[in-house]
Amino acid sequence: MESTRRQFFAASAGALAVSQSLQGAGLTAKDVLERIQKNVGVPWRVETVDTIKSGSLDTPVTGIATTMMATLDVCQKAAAAGKNFVITHEPTFYAHEDKTDAIQDDPVYRFKQDFLNKNKMVVMRFHDHWHAHKPDGIFTGMTEQLGWTKNVDPQNARQFIFDGLSLSDLAGQIKGKLGIKAMRVVGDPKLPIRKVAANWGYAGGFRGFTRSDIDALIVGESREWEMVEYAADAITSGQKKALIILGHIPSEQGGMKYCAEWLKGFIPEVPIEFVPAVEPFWTPGA
Ligand SMILES: [Zn+2]
Repeated sequence: MESTRRQFFAASAGALAVSQSLQGAGLTAKDVLERIQKNVGVPWRVETVDTIKSGSLDTPVTGIATTMMATLDVCQKAAAAGKNFVITHEPTFYAHEDKTDAIQDDPVYRFKQDFLNKNKMVVMRFHDHWHAHKPDGIFTGMTEQLGWTKNVDPQNARQFIFDGLSLSDLAGQIKGKLGIKAMRVVGDPKLPIRKVAANWGYAGGFRGFTRSDIDALIVGESREWEMVEYAADAITSGQKKALIILGHIPSEQGGMKYCAEWLKGFIPEVPIEFVPAVEPFWTPGA
């Protein structure tokens, strides 16, 4: 039986995955991973952070939760909703590579890992390949969530064109559409905005702000002693520009909401749901 299966597998991996699940024989985490690899439209990288962070590929999948960040809160909500496979854009264990050797005795890591083990959950990261998907899955989802499809610059999908609304109005519109509690803005609130560049997620260094053809740069997060200091100096030196800092989670969350819809197109056997990661910040008086 096993050798017959293996031959069949070698002959047609995709067909086997589909036939197994259509029989209801139990979609495994491995089946889901293989379907993503087959449908993402770019070759799967050898060096990638898109790997299994917890659990085993043999696990039968009861449901899939996509999320921007697999926080403990998200994992608990996914488990409560009967979804034991979490697909996360950002790390699970507090570092880009999710290395856990040095934190085995850390109480927070331990609590989370024990919860995942006890509930037989699988967590997989889907970062590199979702960005490599054409078009970039995060950009597609964020553009949709903001309702900015009509504003996309025909020259560059990472830029948006506006009619000169004020920085204050633009920031307010973003805050409302993304439901952000604690976003931060650098620049004159009355500054008219015509061209905006977006760097969803983390923006390292300050080069993203050096372009003279944009009125505002939107980022998820950046270092206050790099990009933010450069932006402050650019404005003090007379440049008419602005920096809008959303927070990392709201700056990419729409992309993982869209990911749930994308997965439904080729994984019909189990329920798939987007579980939002909660914005961690609040501000007094807000
Ligand atoms: Zn990202």
